[in-house]
Amino acid sequence: MKFHILTLFPEMVPAGLGASVIGRAIERKLIEVNAVNIRDYTSDRHGSVDDYTYGGGAGMLLQAQPVFDAHRAVAGGKTLRTIYVTPQGKPFNQRLAQELARERELIFLCGHYEGIDERVLEEVVTDYVSVGDYVLTGGELPAMVMVDAIARLLPGVLGNQTSAHRESFHNDLLEYPQYTRPEEWRGRRVPPVLLSGNRKRIEEWRLNQARERTERIRPDLYQRYLQKEEAIRRLARKKRNNIHLMETLARGDGEILYERGDSLLVCNPGCDFCLIEAGEREDAQAMLSLIPQSCELVLTGQRFVAEMLCAHLGFFVFHECHQLCFTRREALPVRYGDIRELGEADIAYVQERYRLLQPRYAKERIRAGAMYGAFAEGRQVGFAGIHEDGSMGMLYVDEEFRGRGIGAALEAYVINRELEAGHIPYAHVAVGNEDSLRLQEKLGLYRADRTVWWLGRDPESCGK
Ligand code: SAM
Repeated sequence: MKFHILTLFPEMVPAGLGASVIGRAIERKLIEVNAVNIRDYTSDRHGSVDDYTYGGGAGMLLQAQPVFDAHRAVAGGKTLRTIYVTPQGKPFNQRLAQELARERELIFLCGHYEGIDERVLEEVVTDYVSVGDYVLTGGELPAMVMVDAIARLLPGVLGNQTSAHRESFHNDLLEYPQYTRPEEWRGRRVPPVLLSGNRKRIEEWRLNQARERTERIRPDLYQRYLQKEEAIRRLARKKRNNIHLMETLARGDGEILYERGDSLLVCNPGCDFCLIEAGEREDAQAMLSLIPQSCELVLTGQRFVAEMLCAHLGFFVFHECHQLCFTRREALPVRYGDIRELGEADIAYVQERYRLLQPRYAKERIRAGAMYGAFAEGRQVGFAGIHEDGSMGMLYVDEEFRGRGIGAALEAYVINRELEAGHIPYAHVAVGNEDSLRLQEKLGLYRADRTVWWLGRDPESCGK
């Protein structure tokens, strides 16, 4: 991902983003940060970029011309999301970070002095974003705060992808308290449960601490968390049919945008994927009107919703699938030795062999640590993984290695990884793919008593 920061003080950017995790991400070319000096674009022969405000008042204002020209030079004719960091903007939060992390390129515009001439803001800015209800001297720190928060969500930037998943805000809960050595410090002991080695008890303790802390410090977040918990309890009455909704909510990957009776609209934080469960036509209508413009994919369990999406919102159905879930908790035996998580070196292999995937999607899933490969005779011979929506899939084995149980072993391996992460593994199998259906059922996945529909807006981007 590429970040452009338009500023009068470009030297602040490497000082703020050049070290630690973000610095390493830049070195490894996972992200690019381009600090652009607005002053380089002024047409004033003395290099001036600011002037007094019309109507009087203290302080100087950045002029429209250098900002406009700097923006035009960076955007190069492309329509790029352009964020003016300003105390007058909507508050920046984790959800917005997740949404912005889906862009390929972003422009940040940093004001200074009193701010920027309104006319150029009207021309180039798409989003006005604030980092809090206080006034700073310039936009550089807010822009860097946002770049940091967005970049660490990108696949590969954090070494251990689960760490972003467990942190504060991920599931509308603040993080639990944490301790390191020594066991006792100034008479304060580490809570004994953390030394017990009992994973289950530790997880329970952490969840309780997170809940208690969130209720006390952020009752607004806590209400959202409780709403999701209640929805999951209700959905669990028809687990096989609702597993996609339950897991999306339980993993903290979805927000409830609409809820009434059995109807539910859930949207992922990036707002490009929605799940719709409609009890009544009237609810479906209401939910359709709430689907964000940015939504590219929809998953629904109702044919009439699929038809409405096609008729009214320009979606098309690209898969009708069986939905299956693995309801046991014990790990499966993996009857093939050489399976491991894929890394950078394996990207080309996956991209060349699995045509259903967009090349970019395959790279992102590998960088997210969500793909696993089987190896034989010193090379990769197959792979499987977890889709962005949380379902298992992408199973592939090279022709000459089929019939040896490698596909089943890969799938069992993915199931075990999902169980370790505390997830309920589930999969979608296109109607008609009897081989895959047989394999899933042999491994112990149970089929829902209805099919689901995957719909997309853009045929090009339907990599799933
Ligand atoms: N006169 C402006 C106002 O009252 O809204 C404040 C200007 S401030 C001194 C200068 C610049 O710092 C702003 O143009 C903006 O880019 C940045 N800035 C200051 N506080 C900010 C905040 N809380 N969030 C984001 N940007 C901020």
